[in-house]
Amino acid sequence: QEKVNRIRAQHRINVHGCDVPDPMCTFEELQSEYKLHSRILQNLKNAGLDSPTPIQMQAIPLMMHGREVLACAPTGSGKTLAFCLPLLTHLQQPANLGFRAVVISPTRELASQTYRELLRLSDGVGFRVHIIDKASLAAKKYGPQSNKKYILISTPNRLIYLLNQDPPTLNLSVEWLVVDESDKLFEDGKSGFREQLAAIFLACSGPKVRRAFFSATCTPDVEQWCRLNLDNLVSVNIGHNTA
Ligand code: ADP
Ligand code: ADP
Ligand code: MG
Repeated sequence: QEKVNRIRAQHRINVHGCDVPDPMCTFEELQSEYKLHSRILQNLKNAGLDSPTPIQMQAIPLMMHGREVLACAPTGSGKTLAFCLPLLTHLQQPANLGFRAVVISPTRELASQTYRELLRLSDGVGFRVHIIDKASLAAKKYGPQSNKKYILISTPNRLIYLLNQDPPTLNLSVEWLVVDESDKLFEDGKSGFREQLAAIFLACSGPKVRRAFFSATCTPDVEQWCRLNLDNLVSVNIGHNTA
């Protein structure tokens, strides 16, 4: 335990919550402990990603343990990979039909960055990743007749549009709901977001759903929302030593 505290202090990882799993220090631990596909590990190395950043060190084991998290770390600290790797590891065993994870991004640009990252990581592994581009096209593409889909990335507007179709075109009994850049989504002037998030939450309320929020700053709005709505929340903060 002393060793764990030292690692956290060294990387300025602050955690709040019960039974927080130990941080991981190498990507190889994902293979030895969680059976990450070796090709994904290879893809990481090929992309020049050798060791996890602090947010990845702590957020990845949390998500691998199925914990609900609020993960805050500055822009550029590798939050995309911090949620993409657990999604790919959890979903590598084929299971039910339909989407198994949803990632909400505040803008189309960020959504397509996440999309490209997932494609790069899952190259050669036969994953299916989808991004909602034009909502009206998507309504056709993702209709009830469509087959196995794993990860869906969308802006809130587009997802809400699809959820409001009658008859519904999307089945979101997913295992993960990830909300990226949640501080941006909760910003003033986006007052509609709380309503959208409530609708998305309701649509993603299957028995197995876990939720993870990522944010550049841990704003009071985001933190309060997560405390109220997430189950046994763990919050992770990188960078300032307040713990
Ligand atoms: P954030 O979402 O926190 O702003 P990103 O996920 O966009 O950050 O990552 C920023 C950059 O850091 C990207 O170019 C990404 O490829 C790179 N990166 C992510 N994780 C690592 C890592 N473990 N080692 C080296 N570079 C990384
Ligand atoms: P985004 O939030 O993704 O940047 P928009 O808010 O413009 O984009 O909406 C996303 C998509 O949702 C649009 O491409 C459009 O096809 C669809 N959409 C949204 N609202 C409506 C509507 N009332 N009627 C038809 N299509 C809609
Ligand atoms: Mg990001």
